[in-house]
Amino acid sequence: MIDIRGLYQHLAGRAIAAGAEIRVRHTVDKVLREGERIVGVTYKNHVSERREVHADVTIDASGFSRHIGVRSDMGEAFHRYGFGAEYDLYAPHYPQDTVYLIMGSAFAPQGYAWVFPRGNGRVRIGVGVIHPDCDNDARPYLNSIMQMPQLKEKLRGASPVEYHTGLFPAVRPVDRFCRDGLMLAGDSGGQGSTLVGEGIRFAMYAGQMAGDVAADAVKSGDTSGTFLNRFDRQWRTRFGRDMEISYLINKHIAAYTDEQWDGAFDLLKRLTASQIAQAVRCDYSASLFMGILARNPMLVATGGKKFLDVLLERINKPSLAVAEGSKQVS
Ligand SMILES: Cc1cc2nc3c(=O)[nH]c(=O)nc-3n(C[C@H](O)[C@H](O)[C@H](O)COP(=O)(O)OP(=O)(O)OC[C@H]3O[C@@H](n4cnc5c(N)ncnc54)[C@H](O)[C@@H]3O)c2cc1C
Repeated sequence: MIDIRGLYQHLAGRAIAAGAEIRVRHTVDKVLREGERIVGVTYKNHVSERREVHADVTIDASGFSRHIGVRSDMGEAFHRYGFGAEYDLYAPHYPQDTVYLIMGSAFAPQGYAWVFPRGNGRVRIGVGVIHPDCDNDARPYLNSIMQMPQLKEKLRGASPVEYHTGLFPAVRPVDRFCRDGLMLAGDSGGQGSTLVGEGIRFAMYAGQMAGDVAADAVKSGDTSGTFLNRFDRQWRTRFGRDMEISYLINKHIAAYTDEQWDGAFDLLKRLTASQIAQAVRCDYSASLFMGILARNPMLVATGGKKFLDVLLERINKPSLAVAEGSKQVS
């Protein structure tokens, strides 16, 4: 569990030390084009003046809104998404070594809820539901979770300090991340893991990879889509297969009934801590799935084996092939 604000401040400091200039409260408005090439953006600055900035390479890191991507023919707005609501609490009695993942229709229909302590008496309690798989509002469920009998004593004397709501893409990565002068990195490219809605780590990997390719492109004087596509290839080689598997699992478990969740918990209880950790961080391997099967032989009888076979088939495909063929997988 990390202090995410602290992490962002730390990364901002590192970026500035490396020569970056950060402009706060500047809102990007239009995309500037020269023919087929993206050459920069217009924006409104912190005193509401309209300005423009020209760039050899523009990177859209605007998250779920994919503000530049949707204005430059890089795919539609995300049609499937996690709708999340979260309190950051001061909870002096919460045991800092205990996390909860909560499933079931009473608390998180077509999604899950979480209780994550993050040090210094602080705890994040949140819930995410997937639209349009359901049309529930995530926000009212927060209070139901706060009142769960299992949490009553642990949340004694607790109160929210911050409240967050937001959306997370629950789709496959977009078809292409680059065109002449433009790259998409992070949520704007659908590059997070849909397994548990984890996007921070993956946005950082993608940002670093996209930044490296953009710097090489500028140095070589070639910022064409063909050059920038190195990012697309590198990303899909490293993450394409795992993100495809995450998406398949997400689609599968988002449809679970309460009874299916009870069965799934019986399965999860038999896994080792390291198997669970490996699965949650999307570090999939054939040995992980075989290990899950070995600890749950009844999966063969219940039909779960069929789904594991689909995942194993993905594991054995090279990443790029998975990305290219991903549209055909239901
Ligand atoms: C409630 C909730 C809880 C979550 N919890 C976790 C978690 O525990 N772990 C995890 O890994 N992920 C979590 N996620 C997902 C995670 O927040 C995202 O995947 C991650 O932040 C994506 O990073 P990003 O840099 O691509 O986009 P963002 O973090 O969304 O950053 C985009 C930035 O662009 C700015 N922006 C957008 N449009 C414009 C514009 N027109 N002009 C200028 N700026 C603009 C936004 O203000 C924002 O600052 C959670 C999401 C939600 C909604």
